[in-house]
Amino acid sequence: MNSINDLYRQVIMEHYRSPRNKGLTSETGYISLRLKNPSCGDDITVQAKVENGKVVKIRHEGTGCSICCSSASVMSEVLKDKTIEQAKSIIEDYYNLIKGEPVKDEEALDEAIAYQGVANFPARVKCATISWKAIGAILEGHTGEQDVEE
Ligand code: ZN
Repeated sequence: MNSINDLYRQVIMEHYRSPRNKGLTSETGYISLRLKNPSCGDDITVQAKVENGKVVKIRHEGTGCSICCSSASVMSEVLKDKTIEQAKSIIEDYYNLIKGEPVKDEEALDEAIAYQGVANFPARVKCATISWKAIGAILEGHTGEQDVEE
């Protein structure tokens, strides 16, 4: 067992058991987006509040597998208090990580680096990226509900 696999299990279990920023809010100023991954049953809603070009709050709620739920929690921590530009760059790096491609800024990924292991399990890629796709779409100005595209 290598250390990245240990980290992967540890981060997933920890955030799955004690998710951060979980539960939706009815406060004003949030943009919501719901994404579903029919192949796994993941169904997640992400809410983000952007102020002065900065992501100040992120909430998430949903049901799904441990990879999906834990990665939503990790995402909500990693992208909080980042500018839109920083957040987009981290999101892009996260996709690189999941695809097993080189990342630009490993440090900025923080605990999300643990999901590196997903590159070895192509079937779980959608689970690990669904909440990141939701926040990415929010930052691009989308809202609503959709199924994750291939
Ligand atoms: Zn899943």
